[in-house]
Formats: sequence, C-alpha cells, structure tokens
Amino acid sequence: MHPDVRKLIEVQKVDREVARFRKDLISLPQEQAKREGKLKNQRAVTEAAAKALKDSEVEAQANEVSLMQVDEELKKLEARLNSVKNNAEYQATLLQIESVKAERGRLEEEGLNLIERIESLKASKDEHDVVLRDLEAVFAEFLEEAKKIRAEREAQVAEVEVGRDELLKGIPEAMLSKYERLFDARGSTAVCPVEGGNCTGCYSSIEPNLLVRLQGKSTVVNCSSCQRFLYFSH
Ligand SMILES: [Zn+2]
Repeated sequence: MHPDVRKLIEVQKVDREVARFRKDLISLPQEQAKREGKLKNQRAVTEAAAKALKDSEVEAQANEVSLMQVDEELKKLEARLNSVKNNAEYQATLLQIESVKAERGRLEEEGLNLIERIESLKASKDEHDVVLRDLEAVFAEFLEEAKKIRAEREAQVAEVEVGRDELLKGIPEAMLSKYERLFDARGSTAVCPVEGGNCTGCYSSIEPNLLVRLQGKSTVVNCSSCQRFLYFSH
C-alpha cells in the first residue's frame, strides 16, 4: 500500500470519530428548537385557557351587578304602585314591573350558565396548567442533559483531534484537500479497499491497469468512478 494512503486511512478513522461526535453537536440545537416550539404552543394554549376563565369571571361579576340593579328597580316600581294616582298609571307601572321581572329572569339564567361555564373553564385551565408544568420540567431536564452531552462531545472531539496533525505529516497538500473534499461529499468514506476487483465505495469494477498500479504500491490510485482513494485490504 502507498504510505500516504496508509496515513489517510488513519486520518479517516479520526475524522469519522469526530464526525460521529459532531453529529450530536448539530442535532442538539435542532432538538432544542423543536422542544421550545412545543413549549411555546402549550404556553399559548394555557394562557388562552386562563384568559377565557378570567373573561367569564368578569362577565359573572357584571351579571351580579346587573341583577342588583334590577332588584333595586323592582323595589322602586313596587313602591310606586302604592303612590300612583290613577288606574292608567297603575297599569303602566305593572307593565314595567312585568318587563323588569322578565329581564331579571334572563339575567338569572345567564348567571347560572356562567357558573357552569366557569366550572368547566376552570377544569380545563387546571389541566393545561399541569401539562405545561410537566413540559417545562421535561424541558429543563433536557437542557441540563444537553449541556452535559455538549461538554462531553466537545471534549471528545478535542481529544480525538489532538493526534490528527501528527498523522497529516508528509501527506501532499493536494492529496489532503482532495481527501477532505471526498470525505465530506462521500458519506465519510474517502479511502476504501478494493475487494473482488471492485471499489467498495461505489461498487464499480476497477480497470485492470489500475489494479496493477495498486499492487505496485508506488502510485496513489483513485477509483475512476467515485474518485475515492483505493487500497488492497489484503
Ligand atoms: Zn468507487
């Protein structure tokens, strides 16, 4: 095997490990954003539930005030009945009392409906509160865990990369940059063995003249189909 290709195989081992650690470093922020989105949605739902409850409570207070006002009015009208001067006025006051009583009935019914609505809104708000609290707890745990993983992966990357520079010594620059391009473009495999006369990277068969050169060990041979650096594994 060409000595530079032998070196590249070692570099590739390092780079694959680094890529594996980096994958976590890339996926963590994505996972965090996804979870944040979910949390934000639940916050909005919980806030909406709290607002609906508050609105209904305000409405119920207004309903109580209206009922009191109607009662006041009824009292006044009933008092007036005793002081009216003629029958026409008496009848008119009776009609007014009738109409205020009808209004009172409507308000009472509205009040009962509000009580029912408030109960169900309260239950719904409590449920959403629990869901939000749970989500927030899980998210806090995730952040803690993510922080640990990040620190761990960064340390691992640094550790693995320490020896990389040493491995690069003596590899021609053009060869190295070609290797790096291929490593990124070809799924972390820039150097691969030939097996049964085929490139194990792209499964194309290798031309006989290239196979001869590979056996010669003095030239660097690339697959003419995928450009990967080739070597005989045995
Ligand atoms: Zn190939």
